[in-house]
Amino acid sequence: MNLKNKKALIIGVASNRSIAAAIATAFGLNGANLVLTFQTEKLKSRVEDIAREIDENIECFPCDLSSDEEIVNLKNHIKKKWGKLDIIIHSAAYAPRELLAGDYVDNVTREGFNIAHDISSYSFVALAKEFSDILNENSSLLTLTYLGSQKVIKNYNIMGLAKASLETNVRYMAQSLGKKNIRVNAISAGPIKTLAAAGISGFNEILKHVEERAPLKRNITLDDVANTAVFLTSDSSSGITGQIIYVDCGYSISGF
Ligand code: NAD
Repeated sequence: MNLKNKKALIIGVASNRSIAAAIATAFGLNGANLVLTFQTEKLKSRVEDIAREIDENIECFPCDLSSDEEIVNLKNHIKKKWGKLDIIIHSAAYAPRELLAGDYVDNVTREGFNIAHDISSYSFVALAKEFSDILNENSSLLTLTYLGSQKVIKNYNIMGLAKASLETNVRYMAQSLGKKNIRVNAISAGPIKTLAAAGISGFNEILKHVEERAPLKRNITLDDVANTAVFLTSDSSSGITGQIIYVDCGYSISGF
């Protein structure tokens, strides 16, 4: 029970294939108390069903990360419920679908650029900013990123830039919050078929390529990511902050 009595906020559950859903399940098994959020009313009942499978008492609150007001309301709900918080999981990203296919330069737009960076990078520090007064010492903040920030991956396009921004955000947030002993890290996950991944054109090709090329000769599982998330938010990782930890079956190290 690595997370016994820790209070964790998990953002990014949209289906039972979501990385955030796997993290929530692993956190439940490791003794954490959880709050989940849903982005829209349409997702509410699905997220509530997933929460109930973990524990009947988990509460779910709305939070669209594009809205400062919804972030403040979420903070107020949690402050009222728990007073303090130990863990934030930020497992959300978005870019308009038409930018996640075809030629990067031809398809990029100012609006698409701004939306991708706002939801996929700014929202992580927006949460840290709003929640900082209720974060316990020893808190751990964790986000999800992808190799497309470092290397050109076909069709990932604008999301690669947004993830590069997110990863730099992790380092600056770690520096800023370190004096309060709050840690900030990211998991760079290998490809997994989720709703978000389905929005990236040709995603099955990536899965096949990774399986052939990764040192472990397989794609990662949701459990691979969730177990690393437990480690990075538990006191077992107390000296780790500002890092991008690759959970990718080693794919990112392979050259020729
Ligand atoms: P998913 O579709 O299950 O989850 C994405 C989540 O982002 C959804 O819950 C959605 O509601 C949320 N979201 C989008 N816009 C939002 C907004 N405005 N406000 C609040 N929430 C919003 O897909 P996933 O693969 O579990 O994605 C989770 C994270 O993992 C993302 O950051 C993604 O980029 C990252 N990631 C995924 C993979 C992969 O292959 N699946 C690989 C590396 C990193």
